[in-house]
Amino acid sequence: MAILFISDLHLHPSRPASIERFIDFLETHAREAQALYILGDLFESWIGDDDPEPSYTQIRTGLERCVRAGTPVYIMHGNRDFLLGATFAAETGCTLIADPTRLDLFGTPTLLMHGDSLCTDDAEYQSLRIRLRDPAWQQQALALPVSDRLELASEARELSTLSNQSKDAAIMDVNTEEVLRVMRQYDVNLLIHGHTHRQAIHTLTEQGFSATRIDLGDWFQTASVLVVDERGWRTETL
Ligand code: MN
Repeated sequence: MAILFISDLHLHPSRPASIERFIDFLETHAREAQALYILGDLFESWIGDDDPEPSYTQIRTGLERCVRAGTPVYIMHGNRDFLLGATFAAETGCTLIADPTRLDLFGTPTLLMHGDSLCTDDAEYQSLRIRLRDPAWQQQALALPVSDRLELASEARELSTLSNQSKDAAIMDVNTEEVLRVMRQYDVNLLIHGHTHRQAIHTLTEQGFSATRIDLGDWFQTASVLVVDERGWRTETL
């Protein structure tokens, strides 16, 4: 059986078709898999597990049914849905995993990441990331009423779009030195991540160290799934 990796679905009530496609995926492909890993940004934004949005209830149910049918689902935080919490995990049966997570993938030590922490050329974003991941800031944010949090999230999305428009595309890609540093630190030759929305398989070689970096695609136009089994990996497009 295969292990599936997806990321950057950016599910949002304004795009009901992608929510339907994800729920369909959970009822078909995911059911036949040994495990499903969602490496961040499953949601376009997440203001807390108490968001009453009805389409999120539909997604929670889909995840819960998939886990109950026998496919463990592992979810990593992305830069959009880093507030996914213990209540969401308990309600769906999904397991929240750390960024990075080291995994033995059919005998290959593999590092799983969302990917935003690898974009070290984007100094402005990295300092914002430190602020948003601070537990004290998160506790304060989650204490606000849902309506305030929704407003803050929509402002943050607008600001992020504006700021990214002014940035050179290369700045928002991963930094190769940082990739190699993290891979050496965790002693792996395979890295799977998302975030950049630039689906590709990169081979890296440096001073006798050879490594593969798989950048997962997003679920905007087409949905891409990385399928890994005993024989190797392949990318499927839904
Ligand atoms: Mn991301």
